Amino acid sequence: MTLKAISAPRIFDGERYHIDSALIWQDNKIINIIPIDDLNPEIGHQHYEDALISPGFIDLQVNGGGDVMLNSQTTPSAMQTICLAHRKHGTAYLLPTLISATPEKISRALKATQQALDDKVAGVLGLHLEGPWLNPIKKGAHDANLFYSPSIDELEQFPWPSKGKLLITAAIENLDQASLDWLHNREFTVSCGHSNAEIEQLTDDKLMLVSGFTHLFNAMSPFEGRAPGTVGAALKSDHAWCSIIADGIHVHPQSVLLAHKIKPAGKLLIVTDAMASVGSKTNQFELDGETIAVIDGKLVNSQGALAGAHIGMDESVANVIEWGISENEALKMASTYPAQAIQCDDLGFLKPGYRAAATILSSNYESLKVLVDGKVY
Ligand SMILES: [Zn+2]
Repeated sequence: MTLKAISAPRIFDGERYHIDSALIWQDNKIINIIPIDDLNPEIGHQHYEDALISPGFIDLQVNGGGDVMLNSQTTPSAMQTICLAHRKHGTAYLLPTLISATPEKISRALKATQQALDDKVAGVLGLHLEGPWLNPIKKGAHDANLFYSPSIDELEQFPWPSKGKLLITAAIENLDQASLDWLHNREFTVSCGHSNAEIEQLTDDKLMLVSGFTHLFNAMSPFEGRAPGTVGAALKSDHAWCSIIADGIHVHPQSVLLAHKIKPAGKLLIVTDAMASVGSKTNQFELDGETIAVIDGKLVNSQGALAGAHIGMDESVANVIEWGISENEALKMASTYPAQAIQCDDLGFLKPGYRAAATILSSNYESLKVLVDGKVY
């Protein structure tokens, strides 16, 4: 099998930088990183001037892209369109994300995920179900009529995929312990979100089964001195990661920096929560029969409520660096930490044996190319 390589003045492997080096891979596995001068001239390789090569970006929350919403087109080809749109922004892998939907549509999404994984659609890691097990008081742009607290019987009836990663955002206060145990035992990753919990409702038994918190600060009971809320639990739970939207609109940059200061290393990660408008020409789309449009860079519904974000991963990384987070930490927030959050043990680092996945960035952090499963796009 032939070896392939890309090279750049700087490669960040998830731990340290390699200067004037080449990343070598074979099929879908990284072989090594070596100085460009040591590269066998017989290995076909592409050099990127002034570029930085990072572990491939992973976005755990992507509702749409390229004019497609997963909620409107719940198919493997829609997932492929979404992956293509986000690849332009440096995303190597993502979890297509279904916003609260009927049990029938959830079943369609689960079957589409199985099909996409069987067909090896490049970039699809699994599925993120955001709801419908949410708190109506923190519904955001979701349709609260679809919300319920699932019984184990109801959970068992879904056609869960036999492979891939399942991330489930639920308001933990509305899930009973038995359902939470069931999800945990299936090895799904449970993240608390769209939650209006008082701290007393987030018991230690429940929090132990929660791996993360979805879009920290947004659609969750806020932190106050006498009422720590879901935000307080998210910041205090050292074992749990928090995803955060880094568009400068959903969360104030100072709040991002504060969360970064409080959370243990590796536990704050970037998601886009992007919608169909990313990679689109029209800048508006339908969700549950309602028009969502980009107005002044914000995605809003007819009531003016924020409805997802209009941003890619590369722009998010550039933002947090501009706000004061170091470059290597920003890159890890977009690659290493999301990989760890959903236990993708072969992603998040550019090291021998890991999957051949990388994001190639310009000197101002715009995505130039993305390596996914050994193929440069
Ligand atoms: Zn949400």
